[in-house]
This record gives sequence, structure tokens and C-alpha cells, in this order.
Amino acid sequence: MSKVKYYYDSETLSYKRIERKKRTTFKYAAMFLLASALFAFLFVFIAGQYVESPKEKALKRELQNMQLQFNILNKKMDEAEAVLADVADRDNNLYRVYFEANPIPEEQRKAGFGGVNRYKDLEGFDNSKLIIQSSKRLDILQKEIVVQSKSLDDIAKLAAEKEKLLAAIPAIQPVSNKELSRISSGYGVRTDPFTKAKKMHLGMDFAAPRGTPIYATGDGVVIRADSRSSGYGKHIRIDHGFGYETLYGHMYKFSVRRNQRVKRGDLIGFVGSSGRSDGPHVHYEVFKDGRRINPINFYYGSLTAEEYNKMIQQASLENQSLD
Ligand SMILES: [Zn+2]
Repeated sequence: MSKVKYYYDSETLSYKRIERKKRTTFKYAAMFLLASALFAFLFVFIAGQYVESPKEKALKRELQNMQLQFNILNKKMDEAEAVLADVADRDNNLYRVYFEANPIPEEQRKAGFGGVNRYKDLEGFDNSKLIIQSSKRLDILQKEIVVQSKSLDDIAKLAAEKEKLLAAIPAIQPVSNKELSRISSGYGVRTDPFTKAKKMHLGMDFAAPRGTPIYATGDGVVIRADSRSSGYGKHIRIDHGFGYETLYGHMYKFSVRRNQRVKRGDLIGFVGSSGRSDGPHVHYEVFKDGRRINPINFYYGSLTAEEYNKMIQQASLENQSLD
């Protein structure tokens, strides 16, 4: 209950009660409320700087956890980068070398993302730097993986081709010749059996009894099986692809036809002495890109190093060829 206040009125010579105006009361009340609100606000504001609410505490913990997780993520990216670098290194220095492909330059492997800023949405926060850097690393890692994966696709294709190439190129002797006893003349200048003049012998002669089986020396397609070529008599030509062809001359009989597909080791005919020949043998030639080359380099599929040396000795004798 508020005190009742009086004042002395000198005109009426009596005490009169002080009547507070309602408006004034209202003004005081409003000011009081305003002051209280201001004070409360200030209090909360100042206290808020030093005292954390439970929600803030939770958020702070979450943020710390997030930062920790980001750091762990970055450590994992370190490892992934190291593994990928190792794979890329092996790819460049082993696989691509083995399959005769050019190494992928470092700039191409590590190419970043030029032009637009891809990380604009991530800017302007306390942890922007951490998040942007992590995103960048992951993006680059992803791109490197794509480059690496494409390279391995190339390698897989090259490997398949290489397998075909290895099956195609001539790699055995055209007649069974384990003791190498049938090589009678090699590639090079030899004495012509008919004119006795020195001349270039562009193949290898394997002497063998008439009817001895002759085998395809690599996978390919028979492109000729006829005797319409002077000197070779009945002969077969096989196209192996990759620029390789082989020729088998002076045959007695064919066992394949033109356009027939053959595998290495398939029987293609029999030894004879048809055409310009001094006795039963197979005259064997190897072509690379249309040029005759020394067949001595194309028997590695069936010979040991020792046998190979013996063959070189035998084939390099400057004897008389059988033609
Ligand atoms: Zn010959």
C-alpha cells in the first residue's frame, strides 16, 4: 500500500492530499518496464559472452568433432594420395613402358580445375579454409583416379592386342626340327645351287624328306596357296597381321586353302622339291612391312638360348643354298 502524501495550502490554510495524476503513474510504470527490459537484455547479453547455454555447449562439441573428423579425413586422403601416386608411378614406369605406350605427363595427371570458383558456396564461414581445402583435395584425387582408370583401360586394350600380336608373329620353325639338323642354309649371301654364283638367299632352308609336315609359324590367314610365282614352286603365304607375313616354298602338297585361318602349329602342307629346288626342303621367308627379314630372329618360341646359338652358327655358314 503506497503512502498517502499531503501538502499545506497557504490559501485555504489546510492540508490537502497530493493527487498523483494517472498519466504520470503510467509514465513511471512504462519507464520502469523499459529500464527493466533494457537491464535484462544487457544482463543476458553480457552473461551470454561468458556463460554458455547447453545448446551452445552441444554445438561447440559438435563443431570440434566435425573439425576432428575433417582432420581424420585429410589424413586418409594423405594415404589415398600416396597409394595413387604409387599406382601412377607403376603405371608410367612399368605397364605403359611394357606395352610401349607413352607415360602420362604429371601435369595431365594432376590437372586441377581452372576457370570458375567451384567453392564459392563454402566461403565466408569460420571453417571455410578447412572445408575448401579438403574439398579441393578430394576433387583432385577423384580426377586423378579417373585419369588412372582410363590409363588402365588403355593398358588392358594394349595387353589384349599384345596377346594377339604374340600369337600372330612367327615364333617356331616350319618343320619339326628339335635337333636343328634340318637347317641347311641361312639368310644371307649363299652359293646358288644351279649357277654356283654368289647371290642373296632371302630365307632359310630346312632340308627334310619329301612328305615331312610343314606347320604355320604363327596365327594368321593363308593369302596364297599356289604355284604361280616363279621359283618357289608350290608355296604358301600367310598374313599374320601387324605387318608380318611368312612364305613356305617348294612344297609337295597343300593341306590348307587360300583365305583359310590358321593357328601357330597348324599343319599347312608337306615338304617337296617343286619349283627351283635342288632337293626336298622348305624354303622359309619372313616379311615385315613387305620387306624380307632374317627368319633367324623368329624362333624364340621353341628354342633355348643354347639351341639358339647353335642355330645361329649353323645358319651363318656361307654354304650352298637349296633355294
Ligand atoms: Zn631357300
